[in-house]
Amino acid sequence: MTTKSVAAATVHGYPRQGGNRELKKAIEGYWKGAVTAEALLATAADLRRSNWKQLAEAGVQEVPTGDFSLYDHVLDTTVAVGAIPPRHRAAVAADPLAGYFAMARGTQQAPPLEMTKWFDTNYHYLVPELGPDTVFAANPAKAVAELGEALALGHAARPVLVGPITYLLLAKPAPDAPADFQPLTLLDRLLPVYAELLADLRAAGAAWVQLDEPALVQDRTPAELNAAARAYRELGAPADRPKLLVASYFDRLGEALPVLAKAPVEGLALDFTGPAAANLDDLAALGGLPGKRLVAGVVDGRNVWINDLGKSLTTLGTLLGLADTVDVATSCSLLHVPLDAAAERDLDPQIARWLAFARQKAAEVALLARALREGTDAVTARLTANRADLASRTTSPITRDPAVRARTAAVTDADTSRAQPYPQRAEAQRARLQLPPLPTTTIGSFPQTTELRTTRAELNAGRLNAADYRKRMEAEVRAVIAYQEQAGLDVLVHGEPERNDMVQYFAEQLTGYLATRHGWVQSYGTRYVRPPVLAGDISRPQPMTVDWYAYAQGLTDRPVKGMLTGPVTMLAWSFVRDDQPLADTAQQVALALRDEVNDLEAAGAAVIQVDEPALRETLPLRRAGWPAYLDWATDAFRLTTSGVRADTQIHTHMCYAEFGDILRAIEELDADVISLEAARSHMQVARELAEAGYLAEVGPGVWDIHSPRVPSTEEALGLLRAGLAAIPVERLWVNPDCGLKTRGWPETRASIDSLVAAARTLRAELAD
Ligand code: GLN
Ligand code: ZN
Repeated sequence: MTTKSVAAATVHGYPRQGGNRELKKAIEGYWKGAVTAEALLATAADLRRSNWKQLAEAGVQEVPTGDFSLYDHVLDTTVAVGAIPPRHRAAVAADPLAGYFAMARGTQQAPPLEMTKWFDTNYHYLVPELGPDTVFAANPAKAVAELGEALALGHAARPVLVGPITYLLLAKPAPDAPADFQPLTLLDRLLPVYAELLADLRAAGAAWVQLDEPALVQDRTPAELNAAARAYRELGAPADRPKLLVASYFDRLGEALPVLAKAPVEGLALDFTGPAAANLDDLAALGGLPGKRLVAGVVDGRNVWINDLGKSLTTLGTLLGLADTVDVATSCSLLHVPLDAAAERDLDPQIARWLAFARQKAAEVALLARALREGTDAVTARLTANRADLASRTTSPITRDPAVRARTAAVTDADTSRAQPYPQRAEAQRARLQLPPLPTTTIGSFPQTTELRTTRAELNAGRLNAADYRKRMEAEVRAVIAYQEQAGLDVLVHGEPERNDMVQYFAEQLTGYLATRHGWVQSYGTRYVRPPVLAGDISRPQPMTVDWYAYAQGLTDRPVKGMLTGPVTMLAWSFVRDDQPLADTAQQVALALRDEVNDLEAAGAAVIQVDEPALRETLPLRRAGWPAYLDWATDAFRLTTSGVRADTQIHTHMCYAEFGDILRAIEELDADVISLEAARSHMQVARELAEAGYLAEVGPGVWDIHSPRVPSTEEALGLLRAGLAAIPVERLWVNPDCGLKTRGWPETRASIDSLVAAARTLRAELAD
């Protein structure tokens, strides 16, 4: 391989929380008044210092700055461009730190900014609110200070900001702006503010500044692409500015690639992993990036697996012919992976050697850059070890379980479709279940009280034995069943008291799934999750929920729903394998869940619910990828649920209100009943489903469970009437928007009373 003398290693960002979640503790302590602002800021500065040190020790030559955040980097950008919503301005002016958290979390007087998912990751950002009256003003304080810290410590540092196009495309109209207001129309007002931030960073010593434009990897209109061209023409114009690196990640740049290639900026950062690997051919077709710096994201910043270093070197070798300078990077910020795989001391050492978290990925990037600089001979031993690790993964019985493989190979079309069409099933189910019209039910969980959480914690800490734990949980199930009977609900649930989390609970019981001890990843603010890892072939050694179901059903004559998390959601909220297509992993999970569904049926369950709240959020970023995704996703759901008799009723549940994009897919799930979030949109989804010709039963939520507010009977009745206007009475169910685990008992009782009363009122009217 040809060598170049300059190739450097870098990353776009690093986990923020620290090895012992120091940041979470400091911030939450500050919120409670137990930690002073000074102490919080000192902890934050320590963490930044330690992050840069880790990166430098791993061999990363250019560290990012400004990627660190006390809550969210999009909120930091809102502060940097002065787009503070009017309702928070006084608080921010009085105390910038308290005001910053007020925007994130809200106060009695002022609600917070809305939170939503960062592209197709499980990270959530705070949505900028912009309107025709928005006035921007540069506030470079954070960016300049953090750059100064890194430079003072002797690091070569590159400040990272969310780019102007992505910032505007992620924004929504402010509450007082017209609903159809397009934030992108503010571009001309925003660009001078970015120019000022860039000039300030230059004055503070930045040679390069990175502007992140991940929004450009989504399908963009010609007008949006023109806006990007204009933005970078303008930002590139001043003579006295830092060099600009425009970064994209999560997918290929597509039509935006030639736009950025032509722009007067000095560098582009591209993702070359997963679907974004298409950037390689696109770049070659374009004739490369002559005269520019290419920062090549060849180490996946979103998975937890070691890199195929040989394959990355091949990619880098091709790229060397396509740009002036090629630097090596992760595909995106390492924010999306846990900090350190070496902290996982109880893992099977066989599996541990396949894992790379942020620290390990930084070292991989450094190694690849070194190979470019010094030639592969300089890293032979590491390349050999990497090949051995990869081979051990390919040949391991953990990743290749012959029994699982034989089963997936034998799946036929008949396994993914129910024997009878919905109308016939509906008849059989009606005869078996004997439910009143407008049957009432809930989505599965009942309030997760402190007592329940303490009981689970005691079991995990070994202070409670399995038998006593079971007794306490059974007492809860008894109470929940008795409550539901007395409240007058028709189809009951056991309440899910034994479930810590709807994915983790199943992951812990499936072979091939791995739990980490310290693998925390930021979900939003100070909330971190520990996603389980789909490490090997998936199988189910024994039933996972049947005992709980059977116990609950033994307490009542009314039907109790069996309750499972669906295959798509199991994948969406876990770290997935990178050594086989997602569709294959989904099929394995589906087969394991299918056994559970069939066992529930054998144990007497007449109603089984398979939750798929993540079906929509996993949609690929580009529309071109949707059909293939929806195909395997709906196949996996049907494989899970199609092994039951006609008179067993399959429910599914999804908790969001924007279904437009996946209406067809919902139909293809071929569930008998679907419950959905609908209260806030006044049953909009019921109308959408009806218009799309949806034939099966629907339970549009009549109680918005996201707040403690109790709906009155009249309110629930109003929503039900709206539901009836779209869905005929034989196919309408009455239920809340989602599970009740985050609610308290008092509002739960009052709200269920309203829901049941509304259903009864309407039944009486219909009987007349
Ligand atoms: N059955 C789950 C519950 O009730 C569903 C949760 C969800 O949709 N996110 O909690
Ligand atoms: Zn839900």
